[in-house]
Amino acid sequence: MIELLVVVGIVLVLAAAVVVGFVTRRPAGPRGGALPPASPVEPQLGEDAAPPRDTPLRTVEQVESPLLGESQALEVPEPTAGRLTRLRSRLSRSQTTLGRGLFALLSRDTLDEETWEQVEDTLLTSDMGLAATQELVERLRTRVRVEGLTSPADLRTVLREELVTTIGRDTDRTLRTLPHADRPAVVLVVGVNGTGKTTTCGKLARVLVADGRSVVLGAADTFRAAAADQLETWGSRVGAHTVRGPEGGDPAAVAFDAVAKGKELKADTVLVDTAGRLHTKTGLMDELGKVKRVVEKHGPIDETLLVLDATTGQNGVVQARVFTEAVQVTGVVLTKLDGTAKGGIVVAVQRELGIPVKLIGLGEGPDDLAPFEAEAFADALLGDEAAL
Ligand code: GDP
Repeated sequence: MIELLVVVGIVLVLAAAVVVGFVTRRPAGPRGGALPPASPVEPQLGEDAAPPRDTPLRTVEQVESPLLGESQALEVPEPTAGRLTRLRSRLSRSQTTLGRGLFALLSRDTLDEETWEQVEDTLLTSDMGLAATQELVERLRTRVRVEGLTSPADLRTVLREELVTTIGRDTDRTLRTLPHADRPAVVLVVGVNGTGKTTTCGKLARVLVADGRSVVLGAADTFRAAAADQLETWGSRVGAHTVRGPEGGDPAAVAFDAVAKGKELKADTVLVDTAGRLHTKTGLMDELGKVKRVVEKHGPIDETLLVLDATTGQNGVVQARVFTEAVQVTGVVLTKLDGTAKGGIVVAVQRELGIPVKLIGLGEGPDDLAPFEAEAFADALLGDEAAL
């Protein structure tokens, strides 16, 4: 009898474990699953250790790779909709400088000349740039005067609206990654070494996979020894095939082969990671120009993304000009915004280069790349309502 009770007890415990395991399994998109895998990312930057994870854990499942036709353990990237809003706390350094500073000033009893000067100084510390700052303050002052605004809530609303205008409310930030009838879309990723190019290619592959696309990666940064391995690791985690060449080989040949592979596999998008050595300006321009020409034997490039490190501020923008002269850049990816208090750099970059910011990097985690949205970004910079 005791043995019987023990057996029944074990069966009940096992049954309960199965039920709990099933219920806690995350129903994430087409490929649900559990368990975060080991992360390939390198150690955190700067003095701050890992930022708090405010995104759900990644999931893995044994699925058939759409391109490779093999069964393998693939991760399920986080959906892209609303990522910026979810990752907004990563901009906390900028929030503290900008949001709190501005609200404290605008909450004063009288908005005199000195206060407006301080508003301008606060905006300038965010790296927004002089012209954009002066225009923004001018518009704010006019509205405050004309509309007779005095309450902190009204001032907050007007500040937000004008900040969104400065960032670019109606700017087209569409990423052209949809395939053509006979070939995949091709995205070229360029930028100075160390800005986060390879990481961005990997994260972008995940963004596309999360949106249901199939991706081929081209490791055309043949000069940095680890770049191809790094890219292949990113790709293999989400079932994206990586085309690579011999170390030190011709980047243009790798880029060409990657697009050819994309066509053969009927992939939706090919992402080409390039080398960003600023050895000489002409050398870089020749190299990138060649990659572009060779890739375009397959058809026009759909998107050329320039990766910029937000922590390098205006210097990074100056460096980036070389790239905009070498290839026609269609969008900027601003990385490492989690590591700076100068979120206003988004505005400066767009004004200086005349190119929209399309994606922003907010951390080293695999899903810490967000499509850029002006309103969500303004909210993230200004911080919580509680600031008032
Ligand atoms: P590449 O030489 O331009 O290809 O640069 P990598 O992709 O190798 O990135 C250089 C470093 O920047 C790596 O340690 C990345 O993890 C880190 N990195 C890239 N994007 C971000 C970001 O958005 N935030 C932070 N904190 N680090 C990033």
